[in-house]
Amino acid sequence: MKMRIYISLCLIAVLVGSGCDPKEQPDASIGDKLRVVTTIGMITDIVKNVGGERVAVTGMMGPGVDPHLYNPTPRDLQRLDSAHIIFYNGLHLESKVGDLLAKMSGDTLTVAVTDAVDRSLLLTPPEYEGLYDPHLWFDVKLWMQAVIKVRDALSAFDADNAVLYRSNAEGYLAELTELDTYVKSQVARVPSQQRVLVTAHDAFNYFGKAYGFEVRGLQGISTATEAGIADVQELATFIAARRIPAIFVESSVSSRSLEAVKAAVKSKGFDVEIGGELFSDAMGSEGTPEGTYVGMVRHNIDTIVRALIGESGL
Ligand SMILES: [Zn+2]
Repeated sequence: MKMRIYISLCLIAVLVGSGCDPKEQPDASIGDKLRVVTTIGMITDIVKNVGGERVAVTGMMGPGVDPHLYNPTPRDLQRLDSAHIIFYNGLHLESKVGDLLAKMSGDTLTVAVTDAVDRSLLLTPPEYEGLYDPHLWFDVKLWMQAVIKVRDALSAFDADNAVLYRSNAEGYLAELTELDTYVKSQVARVPSQQRVLVTAHDAFNYFGKAYGFEVRGLQGISTATEAGIADVQELATFIAARRIPAIFVESSVSSRSLEAVKAAVKSKGFDVEIGGELFSDAMGSEGTPEGTYVGMVRHNIDTIVRALIGESGL
């Protein structure tokens, strides 16, 4: 059964151009733990916190990786094949991996963590052709529903440890409630007319809605579409007219296009600063504060507030 699935993944891998190496073997050191594979770091963080000791989790997309463009590697395919559960965001965030997961069949449980979120709470930007905006992790309260989805999926799959998953999830959700309060307290320091967030792509619409920011991205919801000269000029006109002091690069998107915006703003007689780097679709390096979901959200709000109210340090 498993071999059949692996062969079909290999065929798909060849079709998407990532190749396939059937000689790689799964890591035997994880013993009887649940083998879980995740896509973006924010989901890996949920599984680590909720699964704890019972789960061996592998995140496919590390620091600086753009999920919109990510192609699964041969090693990913092997991990996917040997996983008990695969958690992904869904809502077309991981476009190529999503296609692959949709074609998987057999023993592996695939779970989109956004599945249970009430559709009326999701954003449907007109430029995204009738699809939902997938970046809901920057509304901390909304992202807590993804935690509940992971908790319930782990508990259903491994009922013997449901009490542990419930208790771990409770602790993590309490941390996220505190985080939401922290973000609100930081936002309150920015005068309301200065609450404008300009970034490389449209990853912050849920953040804007939850915390009262007007949000503009140079590229659209997905980085798969390049920004053109007209987009740069339009955004530059907006920044100069509103006298916005700072715009923000993103760790998983090239900073070149925002440098072009900065230059275009200057040609209109106004200076805008690059206010720092935000983590949007990928977290920071493991072992750093930004390598966790809580740390990345705190880093982002601290960076935004510092640049918009003109403080040299918090
Ligand atoms: Zn994105």
